Amino acid sequence: MTVETSSVLTMMGALMTLHALRYLLAASLAWGFFWSWKGNPWTKAKRLQPVDFTRADVRRELLTSLRTAALFGALFGFVYAGLPLVKLRHDGLFALLEFSAWLLFLMLVHDTYFYWSHRLAHHPRVFGWLHELHHRSRNPSPWAALSFGVLDAVVQVVWAVPLVRWVPVPSAVWLVFSFVAIGINVIGHCGVEPYPRSWLRHPVLKWLNFATMHNQHHLVVRGNYGLYFSAWDRWMGTLLPDAPPGPRAGVASPQAGWSHHAPPGPRAAP
Ligand SMILES: [Zn+2]
Ligand SMILES: [Zn+2]
Repeated sequence: MTVETSSVLTMMGALMTLHALRYLLAASLAWGFFWSWKGNPWTKAKRLQPVDFTRADVRRELLTSLRTAALFGALFGFVYAGLPLVKLRHDGLFALLEFSAWLLFLMLVHDTYFYWSHRLAHHPRVFGWLHELHHRSRNPSPWAALSFGVLDAVVQVVWAVPLVRWVPVPSAVWLVFSFVAIGINVIGHCGVEPYPRSWLRHPVLKWLNFATMHNQHHLVVRGNYGLYFSAWDRWMGTLLPDAPPGPRAGVASPQAGWSHHAPPGPRAAP
C-alpha cells in the first residue's frame, strides 16, 4: 500500500518543524546532561577543552543551526512532496535484517560523501566562503551540530536527494536514520568524550568516529574529516595524532591564533 503525500507546502512545514524539534531535542539533552548539570563528574573528567563556551558562540550556533534545520526541512519537503511512502518488503526477522541493511547502507554512503565533501570544503580556495562559519566554533558546544552557512548546509544534504527520488529506501529507515544522524552529530560536538578512552584504540571500535576526533578537527581546523566512521581518515592519512584525555594545555581562548592554514598548538596534522 502506498500513501500519497499532500501538498508541497504542507510537507515543507512538517519537515521544517521535524528537523528543528529533532535538533533541539538532541542538543538540549546533551547540553542539559553535560553542561547544565554543574559538578557532573563525567564532564569534569572527560571534557575535551579547558575553555568554557562563550555566550556569543552558543547563540550563533543555536541560531545558525535552526536556520539549517529550516533549510533541510524546506528542501526535503519539496523533494518528498508527492512521493509515495516506501514500505519494507519483508516481515518479521527479515524485516529487521532489511531495515538494518538499509540503515548501514545510508550511513556508509553518507559517511563517504561527508568525508570527501568536507575535505574539499577545507580547500583554501573554498573554505572562507563555504565552511568557515562552522569553524568559528573552535570549542564547539552541542548546539553547533547544524551550525553551517547556507551553501554549506545545502552541500551537507544534496547527497540524499537522488536516493530519496530514485532508490527505494524504506521511509521508516529514513526516519530512524535522521535521528541517528543528529544524535551522532550532537555527540561529536558535545565537548566531552562520552565513550571509554580505550575504545579509540580498540581493534574494531577504533573504526568509529569519536567526539575526541571531531573536537580535534575544530581545534586545529583540519584532519579528522569523517562523520560516523574513521575509515576514510585512516585510509587517506588524514587522521590526527591521538590526544590525551582531559583539558588541553596551550589553548588560551576559543579564537586565539585562529588560522586555517597554520593551526595553532602542538596538534598539527601529520
Ligand atoms: Zn570542517
Ligand atoms: Zn563540527
